[in-house]
Amino acid sequence: MTKVLEQYRVFGNPIAHSKSPLIHGLFAEQTKQDIDYQKVLAPIDGFEETVRGFMAAGGKGANVTVPFKLEAFAMCDVLSERAKIAGAVNTLSFQEGKIIGDNTDGAGLVRDIVVNAGFIIQEKRVLLLGAGGASRGALLPILSQQPKELVIANRTRSKAEELKQLATSMSELRTEVTAASWEEIDGPFDLLINATSSSLQGERLPLASTVFGKQSLAYDMMYGAERTVFLQFAQDAGVQVRDGLGMLIEQAAEAFYVWRGVRPETEYVFKQLREGAIG
Ligand code: NDP
Repeated sequence: MTKVLEQYRVFGNPIAHSKSPLIHGLFAEQTKQDIDYQKVLAPIDGFEETVRGFMAAGGKGANVTVPFKLEAFAMCDVLSERAKIAGAVNTLSFQEGKIIGDNTDGAGLVRDIVVNAGFIIQEKRVLLLGAGGASRGALLPILSQQPKELVIANRTRSKAEELKQLATSMSELRTEVTAASWEEIDGPFDLLINATSSSLQGERLPLASTVFGKQSLAYDMMYGAERTVFLQFAQDAGVQVRDGLGMLIEQAAEAFYVWRGVRPETEYVFKQLREGAIG
């Protein structure tokens, strides 16, 4: 008898580069979940229509990537707490005609740092570089780890200030949060997270090597076959470095868990991608 596969998609534009079908395919195989996951190029002016068409055809859920995370947020009937704070949605579930939005990016980041890299964030000094969507999504998951201090630094300082305001509006905040321009950054930090898109542009951030301490972990949300400029700078300063491949896989695992109620093993997927599937 032919198995009926439940349908999932990732919508983006561009989308050809997406590793999500590969990752979810490996998760499904490993956990014996009968799902079909494919990438779809949504027209820039037709994202919502494309998603609603998929939902009407019986789709169960979807991931959303650049540049549609804000549109996805706007079209949801129900939002998770972390999606509300992130102001963006990367995971959609379709249930009884309703669209439920979640954001698993920040949880993926924190899981990669805490579980995979074995780095404890609690009571540490953390520097978050950038104040765009990725930083915003990381805010709640990072703060939930209760670092001692979080400095949010951004090229456009006012945006760092906005994120700081958002953080300080959260209840039970146990972390001292400040906003900074590049010049105001005062190291050393235990954990440094590059959530700017400077690495995509191959640009070095104007940071002094005094931002690093001896035991620091430098994390770049970007990933690829080549070491990013930020991680090269950190490595030259002699600190531990990690790129965003683990975050990509962990945000996918979290989405898989949201949809299927099963948490897949990620280590072997990480190895598969690191050892050759990244193009
Ligand atoms: P946004 O466009 O929302 O934000 C970009 C941020 O980068 C802003 O803070 C911007 O500062 C800053 N920036 C851009 N160019 C430079 C530069 N040359 N020098 C210094 N700062 C710069 O992007 P996202 O937040 O969505 O994405 C940021 C990064 O995170 C990307 O590299 C993306 O690939 C990565 N990412 C990785 C994920 C993963 O799973 N591994 C998931 C999501 C994102 P300003 O405000 O001044 O413009």
